[in-house]
Amino acid sequence: LRRPVIAGNWKMFKTRDEALQFIYAINQEVPEASAVESIICANDVLLRCLVKRQGENLKIGAQNMHFEENGAFTGETSPLVLETTGVTYVIIGHSERRAMFNETDETVNLKLKSAIKHDLTPIVCVGESLEVRENGTTDDVVKQQVVKAYDGVGADEALKSIIAYEPIWAIGTGKTATPEQAEETIKAIRNVLVSLYGNDVASKVRILYGGSVNPKNVDVLLQQENIDGALVGGASLDPMSFLTLVKAA
Ligand code: 13P
Repeated sequence: LRRPVIAGNWKMFKTRDEALQFIYAINQEVPEASAVESIICANDVLLRCLVKRQGENLKIGAQNMHFEENGAFTGETSPLVLETTGVTYVIIGHSERRAMFNETDETVNLKLKSAIKHDLTPIVCVGESLEVRENGTTDDVVKQQVVKAYDGVGADEALKSIIAYEPIWAIGTGKTATPEQAEETIKAIRNVLVSLYGNDVASKVRILYGGSVNPKNVDVLLQQENIDGALVGGASLDPMSFLTLVKAA
């Protein structure tokens, strides 16, 4: 029903040469896009060279964008430029951007709408801090993030989006959420979609898990009923590791 998605988030890693080596190493090996959506989200400067060399089963995404098409926004990237560069996905509201670059639920909402308008599939990130996890309010916090991200977003647009649940305490720490923890919160997210859009739409939106996913733990995470794929940082940097992940999906 829901086609699995494996999205690599390279963050601020890889030079141009390293990015090209990666693409050449995996291009022939990536499984059919009809079986799994395989995506690499790279730094803006690398996007054009990756788009030019992407194989037919690999898609390229950005890690952020502005919600406006143009304007006096020094240092920002326009969704129109991403679209016309051949980029087809964009990560929105990653916790690193929320923590370090003033991303808020409001800007996430504006970016989500703008991405869809520009035929970019948004990968909308939500997730709780360790403090929230420990005080037992994870589901409430994450539900609020989803409600605010989708404020004023219609069902047709929601269907074009992907959500990534990334508990902040699991990112880059080697500390993965247990499959049960991930499934529970992702199920809560799907229930938010049910209340916003009804069962049919909610059953079609892909929801990914992210946070220390690697070739060893990916299988058990993907076996969970509501987990439709993974957003992967560290383990997406090595071509063979990335291939193992997409082949597991
Ligand atoms: P790691 O897979 O390195 O924990 O990073 C997760 C992440 O932030 C992906 O967006």
